[in-house]
Amino acid sequence: MSKSELTSYQQKDEAYVWHAMKPYNPTNTLIAKEAKGVWVTDKGGKRFLDAMSGLWCVNVGYGREELAEAAYEQMKQLAYFPLTHSHGPAIELAEKLNELLGGDYVIFYSNSGSEANEVAFKIARQYHQQKGDSNRYKIISRYRSYHGNTMGAMAATGQAQRKYKYEPMTTGFLHVAPPDTYRSPVDSTKTGREREEVKAIEQMMVWELAETVAAVIMEPIITGGGILLPPEDYLTSVQEVCQEKGALLIVDEVICGFGRTGEPFGFMNYGVKPDIITMAKGITSAYLPLSVTAVKKEVYDAFKGSEEYDYFRHVNTFGGNPAACALALKNLEIMEKEGLYTRAKVVGAEMLEELIKELLPHPNVGDVRGKGLLIGIELVNDKETKEPIDVQLVNKVIASCKEKGVIIGKNGATVAGFNNVLTIAPPLIINEEEVKLLVKTIVESVKLNL
Ligand code: PMP
Repeated sequence: MSKSELTSYQQKDEAYVWHAMKPYNPTNTLIAKEAKGVWVTDKGGKRFLDAMSGLWCVNVGYGREELAEAAYEQMKQLAYFPLTHSHGPAIELAEKLNELLGGDYVIFYSNSGSEANEVAFKIARQYHQQKGDSNRYKIISRYRSYHGNTMGAMAATGQAQRKYKYEPMTTGFLHVAPPDTYRSPVDSTKTGREREEVKAIEQMMVWELAETVAAVIMEPIITGGGILLPPEDYLTSVQEVCQEKGALLIVDEVICGFGRTGEPFGFMNYGVKPDIITMAKGITSAYLPLSVTAVKKEVYDAFKGSEEYDYFRHVNTFGGNPAACALALKNLEIMEKEGLYTRAKVVGAEMLEELIKELLPHPNVGDVRGKGLLIGIELVNDKETKEPIDVQLVNKVIASCKEKGVIIGKNGATVAGFNNVLTIAPPLIINEEEVKLLVKTIVESVKLNL
């Protein structure tokens, strides 16, 4: 493409396309033309290794013709049918998900991670009503979490800067602090239910009256809030509290789901069996919109029986679209055939080790952490005070990577300006050479700019 054609594209983009969070992108907008594997080519012909695509869950990589074909074949046969009735791909995918989850779940389909969470909140509230417990409506989530952009999912989100322009929030959403093993090192004398962050949830249920709490929602690892890994026994302890107090545990697997952390689902690293699991982009490797709210059979069973409440009131047009379900089935087949769950675990561990070795000694690198192919590098001004580094410097590192043909991101926002965790999440098919290039570029860019 000629320079003038490219400029014309950029001008039209400026004129007609409203991008979310434009200031988030510290350099010129990349106008993508095509992509294959981990590589994206822009309209000007420059190639980039996209190590941010994992947060969009392009887990099997770009340009997989098998996925396009699965959707195409399905569209020719049955392009659309509503799930007020049913169709083969939706049934087969629900069966496949049950296999991955170890059985016991019914599957509700929708269109985005945000909607899957809205569905989870509605199911949790109605579930308690079905059981004659109509006071339970509150949802507890964590600060620093992100659960989506619709009114309920935004209310559950624990990052004020994503919300304050859109106040008032939907009521009934409460927040507690998550574990942050870097900023509030884990007190190893306290474990399980005695951990401060678990007691905070239990305390909240006491002060708010447990009888008013419908559910607790959390990601296994907080992704958008800065790659926060929980202590090993945190989730099991939270589940124990929920069970004791009669609240449901919803686990948001929108990013962690489908292999990112080296297991099919993130919660599988931590030994819990959630009541409700929400999943989205990873199910189709983000090729088509599809999301799922998986609900434990015993929760679903509470909806049966009473005539008035025998159905759940969340009708949507596109949820469980046949082409999206067919594509998802093919995506899951590829994940298994290519051993991508294990691959994420092994390659991720090697990459983490290398980044720790190369970067942790740097005076501005406070922490390097991750699980599977989900890695965060926390940048600070000073290792003693842990004061977050200025976001302009974070942007400089990201821009420097991009200049060298590597896309990484940033996260960790609790308040505006506190966006100091470099985020690395490449497709799970990334090969050894690409990993080397990725690590080398990040290390060089950090050392060059900080
Ligand atoms: N939950 C989590 C943990 C997410 O990261 C996201 C988006 N990345 C969502 C929910 C919302 O998903 P969507 O953008 O598909 O609405």
